[in-house]
Amino acid sequence: MRRDHAVVIGASVAGLLAARALSDTFSRVTVIDRDVLPDGPDPRRGVPQSRQLHILLARGAEALDELFPGFSEEMTAAGVPHGDAQVDLRTYLDGHLLRPAPSGIIVFGVSRPLIEHMIRIRVAALEGIEIVDATDVLGLVTDMDRRRVTGVRVRRRTDDAEESTVDADLVVDASGRGSRARVWLRELGYPQPPTSNVRPDVVYVTRRYRREPQHLNGHNGSTMVPFPGLPRGGGVLREEGGRFAVVLFGLIGEEPPLDDGGMKAYAETLSGPDAAEIIRSARPLDEPVKMRYPASVRHHHEKLDRHLNGFLITGDALCNFNPTYGQGMTVAALEALLLRGLLADGTGDLAHRFFPAAAKVVDGAWFLAAGGDLRFPQVEGERKAIDRLVGRYLDHYRAAASVDPVLGASFIRVANMLDPPTRLLSPGHVFRVFRSARKAVRAPASRAEATGDVTPA
Ligand SMILES: Cc1cc2nc3c(=O)[nH]c(=O)nc-3n(C[C@H](O)[C@H](O)[C@H](O)COP(=O)(O)OP(=O)(O)OC[C@H]3O[C@@H](n4cnc5c(N)ncnc54)[C@H](O)[C@@H]3O)c2cc1C
Repeated sequence: MRRDHAVVIGASVAGLLAARALSDTFSRVTVIDRDVLPDGPDPRRGVPQSRQLHILLARGAEALDELFPGFSEEMTAAGVPHGDAQVDLRTYLDGHLLRPAPSGIIVFGVSRPLIEHMIRIRVAALEGIEIVDATDVLGLVTDMDRRRVTGVRVRRRTDDAEESTVDADLVVDASGRGSRARVWLRELGYPQPPTSNVRPDVVYVTRRYRREPQHLNGHNGSTMVPFPGLPRGGGVLREEGGRFAVVLFGLIGEEPPLDDGGMKAYAETLSGPDAAEIIRSARPLDEPVKMRYPASVRHHHEKLDRHLNGFLITGDALCNFNPTYGQGMTVAALEALLLRGLLADGTGDLAHRFFPAAAKVVDGAWFLAAGGDLRFPQVEGERKAIDRLVGRYLDHYRAAASVDPVLGASFIRVANMLDPPTRLLSPGHVFRVFRSARKAVRAPASRAEATGDVTPA
C-alpha cells in the first residue's frame, strides 16, 4: 500500500538518498534544507566539508547504481575519472607501499559538490519528490501521547517568516553531525541513546592543482595513511575538471599549515612522496581550505527499546566517522538501500526494524575507523582486549600486504566496504600474513625514520 507523506530533514547526500528510498513507498516526499541550494555543483554553507577531498568508496558507487541505475556511467560522462584501486591508486600503509596488482575494484574521483549535485538532479526528477530549500526544521510534532511523529515545525529563512507545521507520516533526520535529534527526543520524554566517541582530533587541509599527464607517473592518486609514530597523512585524488585534489591532515595535535612553503614541507614528511610531488610541481587552482574534525560519534539508537514511532535517523546524524577513511557517503547509501528494503515489507514498527539493521551497516565501517584511530595511544576512546589483539595482527597484515598482492586486494576490498573486516582474519589470510610479514621491510618506527631524518639502528 502506498503511504501518503514523508519528510526528510537535510538535502545533502544522506537526505537525498533517503528520499530516493522513500519514493517507492510514499506518494509524496518533501526534503527540507536550511541552505539556499545551488543550481550547479557548488560548495555550500550547510556542508562545510564540501571543499575537502572526498573519496567515493567502491561499495558506495555500487549502491548509487542500485538506487539510480546508470549513475556510474553518468559520472563518467560528466568527466569523472575512475581507475583500479590497486593499480591506478597507490596506498602507503604504515610506510609500506601496498603491492600493486589488478583488483577489479573501481574507484571514482568525484568532488563532493559534483556528487551531491548529480544525486540532487536524479532525486528532483522523481515523481512526488519536492526539495524545499532556505527552510529550517525547528523540531518534531507528535500525537497527543507523544508516541508517533505527525510532522515537523519549520520556518522559512526570510526576515518575517512565521513558524508553520508540515504534516508527515514518517520523518527521517538526515541533518548531519549537528543533528538536534537527541535534544528533540529528550524533550519528548524519550531515553537518550548511549554514544560511542573516539577523538582523533583530525585537521584537514585541501587544495586543488592542475593535473599534467606526467604527474605521479600517470597514477590517479595516492593515500598516505598515518600510523603511530607518524600521526600525519595525506591523499591525492584525480578529479573531474583535469585536476588533483590534495589533502594533508594531522591527528592528535598535528596541524598542516596553509601557506605554500609550509604545505610543501609538511607533505615531505609523509610516508609517501606523492602529495609533495604535486604541491612542488603542479599549478594551484584555488586557496587551501582548513577544517577540524574533533571526534567520531556514534549514537546507539539500536540499544533503546522505546522509539518515537515514525522517526528515523540516517547518515552523519546517526554515526559520523573520521573522514580520512572516506566512509560517510557510502554508509549513507547503504542505509538508503536498507530503508528501501525494509519499506518493501511495510511501514509497521519501522524504527524497531531500522535501527538494529542500520547498526549492522555501521559496524564494519566503525570497526575500521575507530580501530585505526585507537592505534594511537593519545586518542581517547574505549579499548577492548580483543581489539588490541586484532590491532597487533593488522600491524603484521599491513607489512605483509606490501609483499603479497592477495593480501593487498583483500585490504582494498575491506577498505572499500565490499567485504566485512572479518575477511582479513580468515585462516587463509592469517597464514599468508605470517608467511609474508617476515619478507616485508620493517615499517618505520617514527616520522623521523619514515622520512629519512635519522638512520635506523
Ligand atoms: C573533512 C571531511 C571529509 C570527508 N571526506 C569524506 C570522504 O572522503 N568520503 C565520504 O564518503 N565521506 C566523507 N566525509 C563525510 C561526508 O561528507 C558525509 O558523510 C556526507 O556529506 C553525508 O552526510 P549527511 O548527508 O548525513 O550530512 P551533511 O552532509 O552534513 O548534510 C546535512 C544537511 O542538513 C542540513 N540541515 C542541518 N540542520 C538542518 C535543519 N535544522 N533544518 C534543515 N536543514 C538542516 C544542512 O544544511 C545540510 O545540507 C567527510 C566529512 C568531512 C567532515
